[in-house]
Amino acid sequence: MKIIDRLLEDKIHISFEVFPPKTDAGYEKVRSATEQIAGLHPSYISVTYGAGGGTSKNTAKIASYIRDELGVESLAHLTCASSTKAEVQTVIENLKALGIENILALRGDIPEGMVFPSEDRYHYAYELVEAIRRSGDFCIGAACYPEGHVENEHKEDDIKFLKQKVDSGVDFLTTQMFFDNDIHYNFLYRIREAGITVPVLPGIMPITSAAQMKRSQELSGTVFPRRFLAMLDRFGDHPKAMEQAGIAYATDQIIDLLANGVKNIHIYSMNKPHIAAKIMENLSEVIQC
Ligand code: FAD
Repeated sequence: MKIIDRLLEDKIHISFEVFPPKTDAGYEKVRSATEQIAGLHPSYISVTYGAGGGTSKNTAKIASYIRDELGVESLAHLTCASSTKAEVQTVIENLKALGIENILALRGDIPEGMVFPSEDRYHYAYELVEAIRRSGDFCIGAACYPEGHVENEHKEDDIKFLKQKVDSGVDFLTTQMFFDNDIHYNFLYRIREAGITVPVLPGIMPITSAAQMKRSQELSGTVFPRRFLAMLDRFGDHPKAMEQAGIAYATDQIIDLLANGVKNIHIYSMNKPHIAAKIMENLSEVIQC
């Protein structure tokens, strides 16, 4: 099933994310975590694509396992910066052969030391979106950045390029993580003004340790509000307390989004079924409304 058909329904959809193992040796652990996450009955599970393209085989393998064996719809991420156009095309054809209907089209981070752009590679995600559109009847998602993408100095440029990407054939958008919902509401207002009308799934990351917070900040440049920093300051050295507080913070963000009319939410569950399960437990009544 195409994910966009689900997202357009007038009901709440919660999705989760897993990342594939870097080597075949780690496959069983990821498979087991994925199975437990599927047991929470999400609307779909997305499978990331390792920076550098090294997980390509396992992304496709896990995405088809989720769909065919676990009976949950899957979304395969695909990046293009670290592969040639021909290599990317091979991955698209493989996804098609496996019956995968949903792809999250991403540029990926530019690998260090690489001369970029180069003739044989896509420069921006919108070019990948066009290539996927030409290759078959896929539902295509893409990334967006409520706080602006780190490479862009001006948020207006970010939104201009986002419009170009959506117009190339994107069905829905998923946001980078954020920890202040007002930033998301402001972003939604600005992109709607710019004529971007596709569904936008806020991406919620439950932060359950100080180390994870540091990594997330480095990766996305996100701003952590005072309320979050106070929580980290008080509980950061107590792993169990920090985990509980981080789950509560993410739950609170989700409840606020749902209370304000958001219908579709993506949770960066990061192969941690017990955290995904706690959040679903916290939302058990809320998502029935
Ligand atoms: P683009 O949309 O191409 O944008 C990249 C930059 O170029 C932006 O600054 C944009 O404003 C600018 N730009 C776009 N078009 C133009 C243009 N025509 N002219 C000038 N500038 C332009 N990374 C992974 O490696 N694997 C994953 O699985 C993965 N999953 C992700 C999922 C989500 C929901 C998000 C938000 C990010 C994910 N990433 C992943 C990270 C992503 O690959 C990086 O943030 C990357 O730097 C940008 O990718 P993009 O697809 O947004 O690129």
